[in-house]
Amino acid sequence: RDAAALADSLAELNDVPIANWRLAGHRDADFTATDLVVVNPAVRPDSRFVAAARAAGARVASEIELFLDRCPARVIGVTGSNGKSTTAAMIAAILTAAGRRAWLGGNIGRSLLGDLSGMAAEDFVVLELSSFQLDWLPAESRWPAIAVITNCTPNHLDWHGTFAAYRHAKQRLLRHQAAEGAAILNVADPGVRDWRHLVRGSLLAVADDRGVPALRVPGRHNRQNAACAAAAAGAVGCSAAAIAGALATFGGLPHRLQLVAEVAGRRFYNDSMATTPESVMAALDTFAGGWFLVGGYDKGVDYAQMAARLAREAQGVACYGAVREKLAALITRQPRGCGVVSCATLDDALAWCWQRAQTGDAIVLSPACASYDQFRDYRDRGEKFAALARALIDRDASIAR
Ligand code: ADP
Repeated sequence: RDAAALADSLAELNDVPIANWRLAGHRDADFTATDLVVVNPAVRPDSRFVAAARAAGARVASEIELFLDRCPARVIGVTGSNGKSTTAAMIAAILTAAGRRAWLGGNIGRSLLGDLSGMAAEDFVVLELSSFQLDWLPAESRWPAIAVITNCTPNHLDWHGTFAAYRHAKQRLLRHQAAEGAAILNVADPGVRDWRHLVRGSLLAVADDRGVPALRVPGRHNRQNAACAAAAAGAVGCSAAAIAGALATFGGLPHRLQLVAEVAGRRFYNDSMATTPESVMAALDTFAGGWFLVGGYDKGVDYAQMAARLAREAQGVACYGAVREKLAALITRQPRGCGVVSCATLDDALAWCWQRAQTGDAIVLSPACASYDQFRDYRDRGEKFAALARALIDRDASIAR
């Protein structure tokens, strides 16, 4: 992208002394006349620029690799198809409650490279790792001593090509872990139940959420996340009291089933982080009978089960964005159908739900898809949804409660 499209990012880098920018495209020479190429994890391994760099003898590394090789603290790596950020944030909250210093970063949105100088050996780093980040991490890198796997279902097939390749990327966290490490596996999830044989160190199998206290965050899925977080924290010596206390007060992360507005008795939930069918089904478990906004950029996953459940359990579904026709057709085809509409934009989708919702109803943005077709990222999408919902407060202040 060019300087105009990247204006916000460039502004953030204003005071960083970067000698030379290359915007609006790549040139082979930039990759061959260099010592080190740091690759964004979203770049595919078969990129011709990466190949050119390697052929010219440059080191190709990812930010996570550079971090792990230098990190003095004990690292807890968290991956899975859903619940990574929530589980990682829960672990960090427990460690803090237990009086340890915890650094939370990685795929959750923050690089920890800049914090290295402040880290000590007795600290903990909780590192959320995406399949792309795991794919880019070479076997000979340092790998997290504690590995947490929340679940595994198909995702990012447009990048990985096959489910097997995606799963393999996730499994690298276990395959390359040092033998003295510990692995926390959520064996309640059928996708990871048979991964036990990959564990080289000690295995902590999380089978249920029975030990988890009452939570502030909604849904059964969050109880599963909490059970994984508790096992990880227990593995590094946190007390049962610290675990229970921190979990009971954990307030959740923004853009994950977050209540953002209440207008005339209708509650608006921003679940913009729900970029998989499974996360939409988790939202359905929590808000059956709600109005759902789904759509965006199609990552090539199978929406059949989600469509069937939306048709049965939602009151209405407004499909928007690039994938709207495909989703609307899938939901309309179901034997028992809720109301369905296909809208070009999120604004139109929200207006459709708003016009139909009654007092007491939930209106949930839980898109199942990536945001790139119409938004900068999931945050942008969630913030626009929240702003649209809040704007209804002014427009419809006259509605009787
Ligand atoms: P990730 O980091 O893996 O994307 P998040 O914790 O950010 O996961 O949650 C993303 C979305 O997935 C949210 O919509 C959330 O409600 C949903 N979710 C969280 N945990 C789970 C889970 N264990 N199973 C299914 N969906 C989940």
